[in-house]
Amino acid sequence: MTAYESVIGLEVHVQLKTNSKIFCSCPTGFGETANSQICPVCCGYPGVLPVLNKKAVDELVRAALAVGCRINPRSVFARKQYFYPDLPKNYQISQHDLPLAVNGHLDIPQKSGEKKTVRIQRIHLEEDAGKLLHAVGSRALDYSLVDLNRTGVPLMEIVSEPDIRSPEEASDYLDTLRTLLRYVGASECDMEKGSMRCDANVSIRPVGQTSLGTRAEVKNMNSLRSVRDAVAHEIARQIQVVESGGRVVQETRLWNQDEGATHSMRSKEEAHDYRYFPDPDLVPVELSADWIETLRRSLPELPEARCARYERDLGLSAYDAAVLTAEKTLADFFETALNRFEAPARREAAKPLSNWLTTELLGRLNAQRKTLDESPVSSVQLADLVKLILNGVINSKAAKVVFDHMFTEGGDPETIVKAKGLVQVDDEAEIGR
Ligand SMILES: [Zn+2]
Repeated sequence: MTAYESVIGLEVHVQLKTNSKIFCSCPTGFGETANSQICPVCCGYPGVLPVLNKKAVDELVRAALAVGCRINPRSVFARKQYFYPDLPKNYQISQHDLPLAVNGHLDIPQKSGEKKTVRIQRIHLEEDAGKLLHAVGSRALDYSLVDLNRTGVPLMEIVSEPDIRSPEEASDYLDTLRTLLRYVGASECDMEKGSMRCDANVSIRPVGQTSLGTRAEVKNMNSLRSVRDAVAHEIARQIQVVESGGRVVQETRLWNQDEGATHSMRSKEEAHDYRYFPDPDLVPVELSADWIETLRRSLPELPEARCARYERDLGLSAYDAAVLTAEKTLADFFETALNRFEAPARREAAKPLSNWLTTELLGRLNAQRKTLDESPVSSVQLADLVKLILNGVINSKAAKVVFDHMFTEGGDPETIVKAKGLVQVDDEAEIGR
């Protein structure tokens, strides 16, 4: 039996966080009544002219800088032409040979502690298409309805090089990318709401072969799990095709999560099938060095740097640091709490604070399906509780009682400790009395 290696590249579409669409002033809200957020521009009426939303460019550039891309000082919009009922203009405004950003990379932390680097080929700006509805509620229709609310929503497409080698790496890449883009604030990256979507180009080759095999593009995955499952299934399918003497054909396949299988949708088109040409309605985007620099300075400390700082300055384990920095809101909460301690005491407080935050508080919140933003215990209150423990005022058993009270009924830890008479008594005379 031949051993095979899988070769995977991901194309990720991410909705940029803007209030209005990319070429008109229609809002971008999710889940609104069908066709309530449209105008002649996003509906592609004859004679209308698109006007570029600057915020979409800014957010794309910030995201691109966060993954180390080079920003092209001049980029051009192109028309990608195809027919589909959800695309009223019969072309999508996208970018082709001059995208906004090229040559980045994403480092994915591995369990071994090492990092896997996936190169990013390009990031370009484009508009989303509309949506076809095949059911109303649970009632299936024998015709389709067209909803154009999404038409013209700004997207960035992030195209990786085929550097990914397993289904797990594919989902880790997406997970890392999502964390980073949320940090930057460029997107919500909510796969369930469609603000992050992923297509995977999958091929196999005998181990040792350097040229690439024929690839199939897999679409329609809407969670990290479905990406992992779909890619694993596609690899197994291709190996079976080759082992039974067949050839993998270049095509687009749709993932069906319920069946756990991919189905052929259409033969895969080549770029020249789209007859790209520069959009004559839009001027090239020219970014000055100052503009790019201002955007670079607007970036927050990124998760990788923050994680390294927690390990180095606070003495936290790589694991604890990774957990705390996985979401910006969590890391911010942790730091606000930690800043309640005097600077010299922070290193000592970091570990117990991290434990109380990630185990006790997040555990209670998760059980109630609440987010950290909805926490009844504030960062300052949690810090004050840990202070009482570290100062020996209460023991850890009493601390749990206090925490429970804080979580269910609210209140400051010190007040609760006094009210409940929980102060730890270590004066022997008093104990003996
Ligand atoms: Zn519009």
